[in-house]
Amino acid sequence: VRHKAQFVAILATQEALRSANRQLEVLSRHDALTGLFNRRHFDEVKEEESQRALRNGQPLSLLVCDIDCFKAFNDHYGHAAGDQCLRDVAHAMNTAIIRSGDGLARIGGEEFAILLPATSATAAWQVAERVRRAVADLHIPHATSAAGPWVTISVGLAQLEMGATPDFDTLFESADQALYRAKNMGRNCIETTTGE
Ligand code: GH3
Ligand code: MG
Ligand code: MG
Repeated sequence: VRHKAQFVAILATQEALRSANRQLEVLSRHDALTGLFNRRHFDEVKEEESQRALRNGQPLSLLVCDIDCFKAFNDHYGHAAGDQCLRDVAHAMNTAIIRSGDGLARIGGEEFAILLPATSATAAWQVAERVRRAVADLHIPHATSAAGPWVTISVGLAQLEMGATPDFDTLFESADQALYRAKNMGRNCIETTTGE
């Protein structure tokens, strides 16, 4: 009887460990502030998705989104308000992404990436516009923004091109350059490097 009790206790401990490991696995892939996937998860998925896209000869689009004048927001409203703003923006972006394969991650402080498998540049632009509008439509006041009265994001779009884009880092670089252009164009807009 004693052995049986010990055996049952061991089984319970094993199950508790498995459950704790599952929770750790989820935590290690998510961002604590927004609940979105984090950079670690993004870095894993981006490799898988670019391999898959090249293998299947399918397009892969990438959006890099960055909150406009967010330093000024923190300076004006405080860091706690900044954190809440990040949560609200993340939620709005997530809601605007309809297809479940479209991975949204917080990859930096106020920077987000959206990986769009099997998505043409035109379709990716539509997603970008939906995401941009979802954030602007929150109407979070931003008195010190250069882009308007509300909190907004700028978006850089790039697409993996057969033979032309050697690896994911090049794709990311391309989207980042497009984002830089969107900032220069006055923010709260989308720019792309596709077709150049
Ligand atoms: P731009 O429109 O050119 O992107 O300007 P910006 O002010 O948004 O860009 P910059 O990179 O100068 O500043 C980003 C700011 O984001 C700096 C930092 O205070 C804020 N930030 C980054 N992570 C967090 C966070 O987790 N919480 C809060 N509250 N603020 C953050
Ligand atoms: Mg910013
Ligand atoms: Mg930034």
